[in-house]
Amino acid sequence: MPSLADKALFRDRAFIDGNWVAADDGATFAVDDPATGNAIGHVPMMGEVETRRAIAAAQAALPAWRARTAKERATVLRAWFDLILASQEDLARLLTAEQGKPLAEARGEVAYAASFIEWFAEEAKRVYGDTIPAPRPENRLIVIKQPVGVVAAITPWNFPAAMITRKVGPALAAGCTVVVKPAEATPFTALALAELGCRAGVPAGVLNVVTGVPERIGGELTANPAVRKLSFTGSTRVGKALMAQCAGTVKKVGLELGGNAPFIVFDDADLDQAVAGVLASKFRNAGQTCVCANRILVQDGVYDRFAERLAAAVAGFRVGAGVGDGVTIGPLINAAAVDKALGHVADAVAKGGRVLIGGGRHALGGNFVEPTVLTGVTAAMVVMREETFGPVAPLFRFAIEAEAIGMANDSDAGLAAYLFSRDIGRIWRVAEALECGMVGINEGVFSNEVAPFGGVKESGIGREGSRYGIEEYLDIKYLCLRLP
Ligand code: ADP
Repeated sequence: MPSLADKALFRDRAFIDGNWVAADDGATFAVDDPATGNAIGHVPMMGEVETRRAIAAAQAALPAWRARTAKERATVLRAWFDLILASQEDLARLLTAEQGKPLAEARGEVAYAASFIEWFAEEAKRVYGDTIPAPRPENRLIVIKQPVGVVAAITPWNFPAAMITRKVGPALAAGCTVVVKPAEATPFTALALAELGCRAGVPAGVLNVVTGVPERIGGELTANPAVRKLSFTGSTRVGKALMAQCAGTVKKVGLELGGNAPFIVFDDADLDQAVAGVLASKFRNAGQTCVCANRILVQDGVYDRFAERLAAAVAGFRVGAGVGDGVTIGPLINAAAVDKALGHVADAVAKGGRVLIGGGRHALGGNFVEPTVLTGVTAAMVVMREETFGPVAPLFRFAIEAEAIGMANDSDAGLAAYLFSRDIGRIWRVAEALECGMVGINEGVFSNEVAPFGGVKESGIGREGSRYGIEEYLDIKYLCLRLP
């Protein structure tokens, strides 16, 4: 357990109906620090029965929570936001302990996570309906919006705090109640957030956190008719399975799945800006974000210069445990993630790619991988087809704009894309042609609470954050009134 100023933030039980509870059979599982491999604690190994109980609690809490005014719900959310920020340092330490990212990034994530609670506390008060001019004189047509009901949220380990608040914030703001299943690797951040929610006045049953076997908890969350919406962030494979499972009870689904982001650098780009963009986009969280640049497409005229400058900048990264001073690249989440990243490098090298810097395990061993730049990359390499989710930057050379667009769109994924250019005509042309949900233009980091995050194609359904984000948790009801 990391040392925390507020020790009560370290919760090692699940949170159901306002109570901290163990699994019915007392089973637990260990959560490891990816930097050391040592267990930082254990949490309950729950299954269908406990999940059903959590759903029942959420259902029982729904009428009273839904009936509060938006302002009352907003006040609770605002108090939660304040408490999260007041505990920023403790939450960041907990997050780094179980997830591995550098402490500075963890602090940033906590602020980012809190921003969704603040934003949706504000948006709660702006759930407007409509009046529609009626086709018949005796009618008045009105549209109202109502909370969908009980929401299930299944979240990943790469943003243990933000992926929860981005779902729970709008759900609670809309008047829904929630059952969260955090990733097995990072439940402690989720439980600490629940503790702070409880202190902020979130009523019992409105927010529940269940830890345990993904298939069993997910099976219950998707089959139970009381759950009206599933919001999932994670792999495309699991997202597809959950979507199919939700068909049985026709739940609303929100999916944020894998990306394979193209990052296009044109000849006319500001190269310093483009290098800075790759550093931020590709290497943040050691390459483990779904919007990380995955395929870096560089135009002929600047390819060699860009590669050199990028390699020089990458040499400046400091790899180490997230708690270490000045560390900029932490460990990957586990051994499988290391194998995948190194497998992509090996495949590229076997097919003629060249390692400009890095390319192997880091001297620290364990889950540490050297930040890597590859040149001479071709479309036949796995690194161009699959999401690497590690600190590996493959540089592909292209000649003309149409080739870059074709290459960028040649993917089942469509989450983020990046383009660097100073030609305004080209910027519009390419941004409009890219098949994706978000485009960073001369910008490597664009996620924030006020903008819509989400993808097209197999990267998902729906948007999170922004004024659109709360719509996902609302049903439209049409009222047709006949005047007496
Ligand atoms: P990643 O590859 O990033 O770990 P996953 O899709 O496996 O992505 O995990 C994202 C979330 O989905 C985690 O909370 C994980 O426990 C959960 N999960 C994985 N498999 C299932 C499943 N079969 N049913 C429900 N949830 C699952």
